[in-house]
Amino acid sequence: SDHATDSWEARAAAHSFYGFTDMPTIHDRGTIVVTHGEGPYVVDTNGRRYLDANSGLWNMVAGFDHPTLIEAAKAQYDRFPGYHAFFGRMSDQTVMLSERLADLAPFDGARVFYTNSGSEANDTLVKMLWFLAGAERNPGRRKILTRWGGYHGVTAVSASMTGKPYNSIFGLPLSGFLHLTCPHYWREGREGESEADFTARLAQELEDTIAREGADTIAAFVAEPVIGAGGVIPPPEGYFQAVEPILRRHGIPLVSDEVICGFGRTGAVWGAETYGFMPDAIISSKALTAGFFPMGAVILGPDLADRLGRAVEEIEEFPHGFTASGHPVGCAVALAAIDLIADGGLLDNVRRQTPRFEAGLAALAEHRNIGEWRGKGLMGALEAVQNKATRTPFASDLSVSERIANTCTDHGLICRPLGQSIVLCPPFTMTDAQMDEMFDKLSTALDTVFAEVA
Ligand code: PLP
Repeated sequence: SDHATDSWEARAAAHSFYGFTDMPTIHDRGTIVVTHGEGPYVVDTNGRRYLDANSGLWNMVAGFDHPTLIEAAKAQYDRFPGYHAFFGRMSDQTVMLSERLADLAPFDGARVFYTNSGSEANDTLVKMLWFLAGAERNPGRRKILTRWGGYHGVTAVSASMTGKPYNSIFGLPLSGFLHLTCPHYWREGREGESEADFTARLAQELEDTIAREGADTIAAFVAEPVIGAGGVIPPPEGYFQAVEPILRRHGIPLVSDEVICGFGRTGAVWGAETYGFMPDAIISSKALTAGFFPMGAVILGPDLADRLGRAVEEIEEFPHGFTASGHPVGCAVALAAIDLIADGGLLDNVRRQTPRFEAGLAALAEHRNIGEWRGKGLMGALEAVQNKATRTPFASDLSVSERIANTCTDHGLICRPLGQSIVLCPPFTMTDAQMDEMFDKLSTALDTVFAEVA
């Protein structure tokens, strides 16, 4: 075969599928084949270095070459390279990780179920709730409430939870997956409506939805503390304080999808902590292993953990699990990653860098075609608009956010276009100089592209 005579980019396009990549990107520009990383930078097959302002896919929070995590993986490969968590057997690393997660969880009495991804963790949660509905003889309690714009994954169930228009081509969502209004005040708030009024309207919508559907048909409300892949949308003022008591009153579990927010991204270990609410379960992945191993987890709080425990006794088993659930290398890496984040200074650095991050976003929002900046901790977004006063978006065929991201790539910065926004989610290890580099390059790209399209 003459594969090796073609460029790496052509070879990637010839025999691999990308996720979420449009054809112009594949055919014209913007594909990169990466060979290794250096701190928050990745290096491609042409030797070019890019500051990855998205931490890969929000997950590589310790950068791309952290020696502690590499050592933790190597040491575990030497001891015991693979095992499962079926049939009453699991590795010692799995036991220790569950203990660590239970200690770190915002509730006492947690129990953990492991998956390979965030999507599978959401599927697992839903299957747990459906299993409970069956075991507790409440078979109608199956509906899942999420928000439009929320992102929960791509498997058939988790994609049904995700509130994105692209799911319709798959004939999704499955029935019984209901989406409430996207909690984005700047875009969804009505003329003259205060942020507090917007929150009250969303709370009323939840209340009305429960009344219409029947509380005993709803298995859970699942929400990201800050919507991530929907465009970095922090909740409006008082949102979780409004929603939590409604759910409690109706006995509906509040599940925090912390796949992005968990382990420090918002400036606390949990997004639920940042926003002051108490979840009934937590969905985790990504930063759980700092992206050094594919792993997800469902962390059940005491009520769901006890009920699932009783149901499993009654039914004999919970017929669910993945071959690599609780993989010992993943667990060893997660233990090391959690140490780094919680005790090793990474969370401290998120807090230290947050003012610089916010100041950088606020400064870029002065550009004439940035309508809004938003963010929490080290996740942020800039919303491009054709007209700042009227908040009119650019025509979608101008692909403004994609052009900004491609221009950034030309300057050695990877950032993510999401709808009309540009998203930043840098590693927790960022230095002052790397923060400045990120904002300088993005600023240059904004100037270039806005001059072209204005
Ligand atoms: N939930 C949230 C909040 C996410 O951001 C993601 C991925 O971005 C997922 C779930 C799905 O995780 P995965 O891509 O590992 O399946």
